[in-house]
Order: sequence, then structure tokens, then C-alpha cells
Amino acid sequence: MKTRRKFLKDCGFLAGSAGFSYLAMGRHNWNEITKKTDKGSGLTLRFKPYELHLKHVFTIAEGSRSTTPVMLTEMEFDNIVGYGEASMPPYLGESHETATTFLSKVDLAQFKSPFLIEDILVYVDQLAPGNYAAKASVDIALHDLVGKLMKQPWYKIWGLNSARTPNTSFTIGIDKPEVVRTKVREAAPYRILKVKLGQGNDKEMIETVRSETDKPICVDINQGWSDRKMALEMSYWLKEQGVVFIEQPMSKTSIDDTAWLTQNSPLPIIADEAFQTISDFKKVQGVYTGINIKLMKCGGLHSAYAMIKMARALGMKVMIGCMTETSCAVTAAAQLSPLVDWADLDGNLLIDNDVFEGVTISDGKIILPDRPGIGILKK
Ligand code: MG
Repeated sequence: MKTRRKFLKDCGFLAGSAGFSYLAMGRHNWNEITKKTDKGSGLTLRFKPYELHLKHVFTIAEGSRSTTPVMLTEMEFDNIVGYGEASMPPYLGESHETATTFLSKVDLAQFKSPFLIEDILVYVDQLAPGNYAAKASVDIALHDLVGKLMKQPWYKIWGLNSARTPNTSFTIGIDKPEVVRTKVREAAPYRILKVKLGQGNDKEMIETVRSETDKPICVDINQGWSDRKMALEMSYWLKEQGVVFIEQPMSKTSIDDTAWLTQNSPLPIIADEAFQTISDFKKVQGVYTGINIKLMKCGGLHSAYAMIKMARALGMKVMIGCMTETSCAVTAAAQLSPLVDWADLDGNLLIDNDVFEGVTISDGKIILPDRPGIGILKK
């Protein structure tokens, strides 16, 4: 009985009980922005700033950092709580301040049921342009809540086969050879590595990784290359090194050069910085082979699902990625992973102060939890 009670509490089913320690301890820290409309019903949204600590200083072509600000959200209905998260790496332009401003505008009291997902998310989207991470935090909490009310995980609600989840890649940031070798050894449980390139030592990075392992590699240039002929030569060299695709090789504004590279490269070219929301398909179709979908770029699961369907209709490859995030947003994204070609869902593995547990990795493969909603428990 005690175990069942703990499970219900952890899953958010007993939010109103005295045993819900996270809320009880930190209630005064939560901004509660929507009042219940009547007893026991009405949607309530709460949010709270949090800072993730990265295990290693993380370096990509755009710079280095050791923390990531996030906003944790909770949506409550009939004493059941759904969890959400906004992850806001600084280069995307959102912050605790902008998310607070945006979330303070969200008034869910007008909606009598959380099952009005379409109405609620259209309303949230039109409150202000941009703010996609903040919007994702509402979308994820809503999906978690609705899945719990339906007592089903989202992969089942979407009719997906949990046996079809891909392997996730594990990211190796740009660093000195001895550090790269250590990181590659730490990545032993993963079957595919994602190597960050684009700071002038690309061949050294790949040769260092190859001195440790012959696993498949994907590379993320983060717009770090500027010359298309050099990019094409590198794509042939990388193919010989066992690389399977190249993510965002050149600036997102280098459309003609990227289209030329995609036509001539032996490797698929994937859009990340060049692709954010569903309206970007017209920019990337014919320019890139595929897209990297991230909940924080597109506003959450509702939009991500539609984008996967659109990409397939256009014959494009699909990758699902993440920011440095807790297991909340990563496990939410993992619910869609049976639909994608490649997954890069390691954001929760790069931090040392996760507040949730959810998706796990077994022999490199994503294992979806058999829990309702997005499938997470509070630690
Ligand atoms: Mg990327």
C-alpha cells in the first residue's frame, strides 16, 4: 500500500495530499498564475525557475557554458498534476525573465477541460510571438496531465510501437584530445556518438574519437563551416571515417551553398539552427535532407508530432533532439522517438541535478517508461 501510495504521489496523482513534499516545501517559490474556477476543477498553472548544472563545461562552435536556466511548470486539474519544463540555453534568446513574463499571461481558467488540447495550445501560442521554450513548458505539462487523466503514456495514445525506439547518440563537445578520449570512454554504453565540430580542429577531433572507438558517429557543425567546397571535401572525408550524417554545416542563412552541398554530399545534411517551427518547412525543403526537431524550438509535443508527419509527407529524414534538460522534457520528446530516424536525447545525462526520472537507456537504446502521461516521476 505504501509503495502504491508513493507511486501515485510521484506520478502526480496525489498533488493535494500533505505528502506531496515538493510542493509543500517549495510552494512559496511557485508562481501560481491561474486560480481554480470552482471546487475541484479548473486548470491551474504554476512555474518556478531552476538552474541545471552541467557535468562538463560544454563547448560548441558558438561558445562554452556550465549551466542552463530552466523553468519547471506544473498544471493541475482535479488534484492531478502534469509536469512541464522550458530549457533556455542563452543563445536561443529566452530566459527566466522572458519565461516569467510569458507564463504570467497564461490564463487557463477559461478552459473547463484539459482535453481541449487544440483550443488551449492555440490560445497559448497566440499570446505572444516566439517564447517557444515557455510555450513548450505549458504543452508538456498539458500532455502529462491529459495522459495521466487517460491513464496512458503518450506513445500509446499516438499508437506508437515502443519497440521501435532508436538508439540515442551521446554528445562529445569540442575539447583537447585527452579530454575527448575520456569522454569517449565515458560514452561506452552508447552505440552512436554525436561529435561537435566547427572550431578548426575537426580532423583532430574525429581522429581522436576514432583512436578510441569504431562506433558510428554523427557530427554537428553548429554553422561552423563557411566554405562550401571545403564542406564537400569534409563530407567525403567524414564518410570514410564512419560518419552517418552532418548537422547544420553552414550558417542557417547560407541557403544556396547548403542546397549545393546537400545535392553533392555523400552524407545526409540535417537542419537544426535553420529549422525551428512548422512554418520553416518552406525554407528547408530542397535545401536539407532532414530536420532536427526539438520541443524547445517548436513549442512542444503537439507541434513536434505535426512536424514529423509533415517531414515524412515531404520525404525528409527526421531527427529528434533536445537541449540540456531534466528528464521531464527529454522523456516527453522520447515519447515521439518511435517515429524518427535518429534521436539525440542525452540532455538529462549531461547534468548532475536532475529532479525527475523517466526515460532510460539500455545498451544504447531508448526505453520508454510504462507510466501514464509523459512517463516521469519526481526524484
Ligand atoms: Mg545541433
